[in-house]
Amino acid sequence: MKLIAGNWKMNKTPSQTREYITKFLELVRDVKNTEILLCPPFTSLCVAGEMLKDSHIKLGAQNCHYEEKGAFTGEISLSMLKELGVSYVIVGHSERRWLFGETDEMINKKVIACLEKGLRPILCVGEKIEDRNAGMTLKVVESQLKLGLSGLEDLAGKIDIAYEPIWAIGTGTPATPEDAQFVHRFIKEFLGDVRVLYGGSVSPKNAKDFLSMPDVDGLLVGTASLDPESFAQIVKASE
Ligand code: PGA
Repeated sequence: MKLIAGNWKMNKTPSQTREYITKFLELVRDVKNTEILLCPPFTSLCVAGEMLKDSHIKLGAQNCHYEEKGAFTGEISLSMLKELGVSYVIVGHSERRWLFGETDEMINKKVIACLEKGLRPILCVGEKIEDRNAGMTLKVVESQLKLGLSGLEDLAGKIDIAYEPIWAIGTGTPATPEDAQFVHRFIKEFLGDVRVLYGGSVSPKNAKDFLSMPDVDGLLVGTASLDPESFAQIVKASE
């Protein structure tokens, strides 16, 4: 089944989350053939978890820490997330890598911790514009996959990958569906049977074009997921 995930990033208070989910539940009530995932900020997970508990919409976190508990000021463990109803975790988003200094080694520990806890990681990979211009896209993606998944085997059905070219994120300039298809094919040849989502300036206008590509198995949506109507339109493009 295709997965359409909304990454709200650092947006929406708990009361705004309540308002959004009330509308969104109604808008996607009839969606049957698509997996829907909402990833609000940590502070909204509790209210979102309560509201989504008996629905067909899954709850995800945007980040996690890999240690179980202890002296890690400001961090959130997977047990804490799990108790709120979280079943997915976005790991290694480019904003975590490039704004907050996450390394491939930390990302690898997070992926392993998620799998051990029975949470499903969405590992994000993608190249910077300089890499792309230098013809290095596949090399960068391959290295992020190798290091991020180091020590792990037989990942089929346990993990999703999001290909998010950094130059396409939040810019209004998405990759072309053909560009995405080319990299997604490569990722599947490299890893075997995993779901590969595309992310980077996805909108209600272009969602169908991406989803019509044979190896685009879903979408990771930032900006356009902040409005319940737009996000519902993107979800319905997958039905
Ligand atoms: P965008 O963000 O849809 O605003 O480009 C995507 C992402 O960062 O996951």
